[in-house]
Amino acid sequence: MKELAKRYTAVHQRIQQAAEAAGRDPADITLVAVTKTWPAEVIAAAYDLGMRHFGENRAEELAEKHPFLENQFGINSGIVWHFIGTVQSRKAATVADYADVFHAVDRFKIANRLQQQLAKNGRSLPIFIEVNISGEGSKAGFDCNQWETDATQQTALRKVVQSLQTMPTLPLHGLMTMAPWGAPEPEIRTVFERTRQLATWLQEEMRLKRPLALSMGMTDDFELAIAAGATHIRVGRALFGDRHPSFK
Ligand SMILES: *Cc1c(COP(=O)(O)O)cnc(C)c1O
Repeated sequence: MKELAKRYTAVHQRIQQAAEAAGRDPADITLVAVTKTWPAEVIAAAYDLGMRHFGENRAEELAEKHPFLENQFGINSGIVWHFIGTVQSRKAATVADYADVFHAVDRFKIANRLQQQLAKNGRSLPIFIEVNISGEGSKAGFDCNQWETDATQQTALRKVVQSLQTMPTLPLHGLMTMAPWGAPEPEIRTVFERTRQLATWLQEEMRLKRPLALSMGMTDDFELAIAAGATHIRVGRALFGDRHPSFK
């Protein structure tokens, strides 16, 4: 608990400094504490320290931890559950039941599955479209590695947004991206910058009423993401240490 408090303070300071350096208000940056692999008791400790946004990437884990935290802190706890990973379509219904924000719409099929279940529940789920800017084959998300010049990629993006506009249960909140693994700093910076430019382009192109939020930046690179305009950073290891040993 003491260790967690120390780490939380350190992450806060990093956010503060990065925001200041970028001339931004730190209050405009949401820290999503990535609790995947950690037991619900760890989330409860994080809650007691003041954390409210939690990120999970497995439907089963979310379905276990959500009720646990609700029992402990009530339905008005203020907890916001972010689902941050790719989801298999047969598990989309679980995500629709328990998540409050979904960061990784990477194909139409998932949007459809989510929508069906949300309609049943009478809920809506704000979403981020996941975009693959770096072009790394291992990355999920819509292909956007040449979005500035590639008409096919641009058309695909317009179509995604148009489809989502017909799904009122899935309000489009922003774009999500992942930096290339272990890439040099300038390359990571470029990926984040290009994601922000893509968000601006889409907003104008699709005449969106509000700017798109930007979910980007993790433990090793969130300062770069904040410099490029991130509104949501997803931080695991800097808060909780390396993944829980039982992580498979
Ligand atoms: C695990 C994970 C994170 C957090 O990564 P850390 O390096 O632990 O900060 C962020 N985003 C996604 C999609 C993840 O799966």
